[in-house]
Amino acid sequence: MLDELLQSPAYVMACQQYDRVADFLDIGQSERVRTKMPKRAFIVSVPTRMDDGHTEMFTGYRVQHHLSVGPTKGGLRYHPDVTLGEVAALAMWMSWKCSLSGLPYGGAKGGITCDPRKMSRGELERMTRRFTQEMIPFIGPHVDVMAPDLGTNEQVMAWMMDTYSMHEGNPVPQIVTGKPLSLGGSAGRREATGRGVAYLVNRVLDHLNMKSEGTRVVVQGFGNVGSIAAQQLYRFGAKIIGVSDFSGGIHNPNGLNVNKLIDYAAQHGTLEGSQEDGDRVTNEQLLQLECDVLVPAALERQITEKNVGKIRCRILAEAANGPTTIEADNVLRQRDDIFLIPDVLCNAGGVIVSYFEWVQDLQSFFWTEAEVNDKLYRQLEAAYQQVLQMARKNKLYMRDAALALGISRIALAKQVRGLFP
Ligand code: NAD
Repeated sequence: MLDELLQSPAYVMACQQYDRVADFLDIGQSERVRTKMPKRAFIVSVPTRMDDGHTEMFTGYRVQHHLSVGPTKGGLRYHPDVTLGEVAALAMWMSWKCSLSGLPYGGAKGGITCDPRKMSRGELERMTRRFTQEMIPFIGPHVDVMAPDLGTNEQVMAWMMDTYSMHEGNPVPQIVTGKPLSLGGSAGRREATGRGVAYLVNRVLDHLNMKSEGTRVVVQGFGNVGSIAAQQLYRFGAKIIGVSDFSGGIHNPNGLNVNKLIDYAAQHGTLEGSQEDGDRVTNEQLLQLECDVLVPAALERQITEKNVGKIRCRILAEAANGPTTIEADNVLRQRDDIFLIPDVLCNAGGVIVSYFEWVQDLQSFFWTEAEVNDKLYRQLEAAYQQVLQMARKNKLYMRDAALALGISRIALAKQVRGLFP
């Protein structure tokens, strides 16, 4: 059974989250399996000619969670730890996120087990094109649309768009989102996830009667999401007192110069070696710094049963997908000193603007960045208000409230469509 092939810590975590909410929603056993299990999972070999002439066999994955309301949508991840089970969990979270944000998509996720930091540009391009070619029978603008995630970027999307378009014989920009603007990308897509995180942090600061001015923020992960979230919060007047990437972190209680750090990371591909004033800390120490807002924006399962008791923030803004383990979450839901912005809400800005990009590509009619941002904030605000209301009305933890909204809409769509044949 597919379920057995997907077993991994992240998949078990997504299933447990689902089951808790399905109990609350009182979803019956057969509907439960149907709504939870991924629809399709693919594993492909990706033979790639490396610069030294040898052929490396990478393994690529794609999981499409459900196709009940539209195509599936989700990122493509390049990382040494990518597994089928991890990708399946990420696809499930994408489904619930799209549903919560009112997008006509099921969730999907893909990945290739590789270390992109150790590969040349040519190797990355050949691997990406071969993976796209292997996936052609299973993707399409109305079947499955990919986007960047950890370790991938606009250039990777451009290669995918080119490979797919060469196969079709005409340009198909709507096959991926998060593309360069010159290929039909959307204004504001690159910044959308981090911008959304900063918007929601500000809304929650308001809700808790706290000011953004001088708010102390710590961000783990300084890639697309983490660096933009930090930059936006810095612009709103927050003090970014700690940031990190895979190489470790920097802490300065007086505040770091985020723009300088962004320039440094863009030049060197890492924060390592930056001359920014502050103490060098490990990622573990960074998560335990006293602050007002903690933003995990790197990998899954960073907040664990070991460190959750030592986390000292007022707001936990989950910019990464699945940064909190089930065991840590069980502790967190008892800690009313911490207000959680759950991942499916917190980082939804990315897929919302991906949806805008897809819509713009389908109609070949493009919007300005101001229009995109305005629509993004409206859609995020609606989702935030719905989650807040659901939590208040049913006395639910914020994660359960967000997942209950997302999952109940998918269950309803499946029920109304009926079971074929
Ligand atoms: P990215 O590759 O641009 O950046 C990842 C960052 O995390 C890098 O700074 C990297 O050095 C750091 N990192 C890697 N391993 C680490 C470790 N062990 N400890 C600390 N830092 C580490 O990726 P991204 O697009 O910014 O994605 C970050 C997270 O946000 C992922 O969980 C992703 O699924 C999620 N997300 C991304 C988007 C998007 O639009 N890019 C949308 C929604 C959610």
